[in-house]
Amino acid sequence: MIIKYSQIITIGSGPSSYTFSIYAVRSNLNIIIISGKNLGGQLTKTNIIENWPSTTRIRGAELMLNFYYQALNFNIEIYIDEIYSIDLLTNPFIVFSKKFFFIFEFLIICTGSFHKILKLKNQNKYIGKNISNCAVCDGNFFLKKKIIILGGGDSCFENLNYLLNISKNIILINRNKIFKCNFDLIKKVFFKSHSFLRLKINYYILEFIGDDYFLKYIKIKNFYNFCVKIIYINALFIFIGNIPNSKLFKGQLKLKKNYILTRRDSYSNSLKTSINKILCAGEVQDFLYKQAITSSSSGCAAYFDLLKIYKKFFYKNV
Ligand SMILES: Cc1cc2nc3c(=O)[nH]c(=O)nc-3n(C[C@H](O)[C@H](O)[C@H](O)COP(=O)(O)OP(=O)(O)OC[C@H]3O[C@@H](n4cnc5c(N)ncnc54)[C@H](O)[C@@H]3O)c2cc1C
Repeated sequence: MIIKYSQIITIGSGPSSYTFSIYAVRSNLNIIIISGKNLGGQLTKTNIIENWPSTTRIRGAELMLNFYYQALNFNIEIYIDEIYSIDLLTNPFIVFSKKFFFIFEFLIICTGSFHKILKLKNQNKYIGKNISNCAVCDGNFFLKKKIIILGGGDSCFENLNYLLNISKNIILINRNKIFKCNFDLIKKVFFKSHSFLRLKINYYILEFIGDDYFLKYIKIKNFYNFCVKIIYINALFIFIGNIPNSKLFKGQLKLKKNYILTRRDSYSNSLKTSINKILCAGEVQDFLYKQAITSSSSGCAAYFDLLKIYKKFFYKNV
């Protein structure tokens, strides 16, 4: 196994990691990016992005390729490798990837999150086309179209609230009789939409039916009376849970509902984790915004937080 040393390591290759790294390398800091198996992160899974400032329309993969080339332009070392074990009790820290053994002083965790999806055939083919898990990102592509929204928690209702401005042809499917969402939000949404929102309660999706490009129909089934229906759709939005990629750090860093706990709400207001030399950015710590631009901005904030914490260290080296 090859040993690599770097002053700073960042895990992940989404917007937060690249932003942090670009700021850091411009301060002449020695940095390595370990990309993970999903080089470019979640945005590579979507088709068109219309809410990245300065570009009218850009493919997700193309935007992330731009980040990648910008990082290469600054000679940042990028390892396309996955971390499978980490030891944060040592000094310096150690991480193990499939090919390397990394030793480093500071760690920026940018491992993002993933949206739970259904375990159904053909699903991956339509994700980023007309299956989505972000109404703000993709809702506008389905203006006045027939939209199905799946879920019953806070994030489902927040997204539903947004989609109600986009279309009046929406069906909400929930497998339970009870919505997990907070009551105020449910009231707000139903008050706004009671005359046109259709509900399919106690239903679950059985099958996706579509062509090579788009999902056209979903087959749904009722848990209790076994009634099966086939519904024509233009878009499906799935909100059945979002899981931060924090499993690696369990037992070593403080987590809250699987999100890495930062000191953002305390007096110091920083992206420092429960261990001083470790910071995090992006969706692995963000339970609120979950956008590319906010992930990117937290990468920038993490850079300044790192500078603040280790002022003396950096002033010696920069
Ligand atoms: C389908 C879809 C469409 C979207 N559309 C938009 C949009 O239009 N506009 C918008 O603003 N946002 C959109 N988003 C949200 C946006 O993609 C995220 O907010 C953003 O990518 C989060 O960035 P991040 O830096 O936290 O990391 P992520 O993009 O989540 O990337 C995480 C990185 O960590 C790496 N990683 C994870 N575990 C390990 C490990 N063990 N070892 C090494 N590396 C690891 C992964 O390989 C990956 O590179 C969309 C998301 C999805 C899923």
